[in-house]
Amino acid sequence: MNEHQDNMQLFYPMICRFLEQEADPYYDDWETVGQVPRAFWLKLGQAGMLAVDLSEEYGGTGADFGVTQMVLEEMSRRGFGGLASAFNIHSNIVMPYLEHLASEEQKQQWLPRMACGEVLGAIAMTEPSAGSDLAGMKTRAVKVDAGWQLNGSKIFITNGMVADMVIVCAKTDPAAGAKGVSLFLVDTRLPGFSRGQPIKKIGQHASDTAELFFEDVLLPENSLLGEEGKGFAYLMQELPRERLGVGAQALGAMEGALALTLDYVQERKAFGQSIGQFQNTRFKLAEVRAKIDMARAYFNHCVNLYRQQQMSGTDAAVLKLQLTEMQCETINQCLQLFGGYGYTLEYPISRFYVDARVQTVYAGTSEIMKEVIARSMLGK
Ligand SMILES: Cc1cc2nc3c(=O)[nH]c(=O)nc-3n(C[C@H](O)[C@H](O)[C@H](O)COP(=O)(O)OP(=O)(O)OC[C@H]3O[C@@H](n4cnc5c(N)ncnc54)[C@H](O)[C@@H]3O)c2cc1C
Repeated sequence: MNEHQDNMQLFYPMICRFLEQEADPYYDDWETVGQVPRAFWLKLGQAGMLAVDLSEEYGGTGADFGVTQMVLEEMSRRGFGGLASAFNIHSNIVMPYLEHLASEEQKQQWLPRMACGEVLGAIAMTEPSAGSDLAGMKTRAVKVDAGWQLNGSKIFITNGMVADMVIVCAKTDPAAGAKGVSLFLVDTRLPGFSRGQPIKKIGQHASDTAELFFEDVLLPENSLLGEEGKGFAYLMQELPRERLGVGAQALGAMEGALALTLDYVQERKAFGQSIGQFQNTRFKLAEVRAKIDMARAYFNHCVNLYRQQQMSGTDAAVLKLQLTEMQCETINQCLQLFGGYGYTLEYPISRFYVDARVQTVYAGTSEIMKEVIARSMLGK
């Protein structure tokens, strides 16, 4: 057993115990209110689960990066798709951006409070008229004496209603194309920052999704993340980890849905036998199992590549495309085996179904993943 497997074995029972005690009994309520309560974030922080692979110097646990993916997987396996997305943004995306790009002063300012759940993070790229085509963004940061003045708006921002700090993508030089975009660390207490009503969605209700507005927000000098004009390059550098996290969510959700379905088909009777005895049921379940095993092999391959800093944007696009499309397809098949009960809120398979749908959309749509993969072969 290697060091990474040791790490996994050590943390897995702890993660399960934590979620069993602190999330299982309350998750339905969080779905109803439309967000994960701050008290739970603080408990995640106390348990060392918010910054699993962040160095201890900044309040992290200093464990292997694969353990963070395991937390995402386990949340999803339990049917907590919304929680997994919220966690993915805070712990698997925003914190690594800071760890990789922030100055020492910025790290000290944000990371320890993010690691304990006192500060929640979000990342705002998408705008009403710029989603897949991010180059069309209109949010603008203009250099002024005291720092930067930010104007614009963002949409579909996960954790947007609760975030204390948002990484905002803005144009600093509209004439410079891809080189004219920069990233900013925006403290949401600043005057001029506001949030719209939470956006109502068909699934992932526990994850809040918001529209954000910036009206003459005066950002201090040290709000710039990394170098001016390198925003797009940083997104390209960091997006693969986000997509890996979405893959972890897909994998966990497929396994959770299969487990529910296996129980159900053995209990439910039709035509004098359990529905698990019909050849169609057996074949469908076998197909789902086979797909999950293939998905896990590629996922583990990508986790290993990432650990060695060798996972390319194309690897991440292949993973995200395949695992999220597979998630939607396999969960659809699982739901079918529940008959009418699968369509009711009474049976958790229905939540797996609605939570899955957005996986092929956010973090880059399936069509954009195909563009990334095609570009790697054709050059443009
Ligand atoms: C629940 C949820 C959470 C989200 N969280 C965040 C977040 O935290 N931060 C953030 O910044 N964003 C977030 N998003 C936004 C998400 O990343 C975008 O919705 C996504 O990138 C698609 O952009 P769009 O909605 O503008 O669709 P569009 O870009 O308008 O796409 C519409 C359709 O056209 C297709 N299309 C577009 N371009 C091409 C092309 N070149 N070739 C072929 N087809 C194409 C798309 O694939 C899609 O099918 C979230 C979205 C949702 C729904």
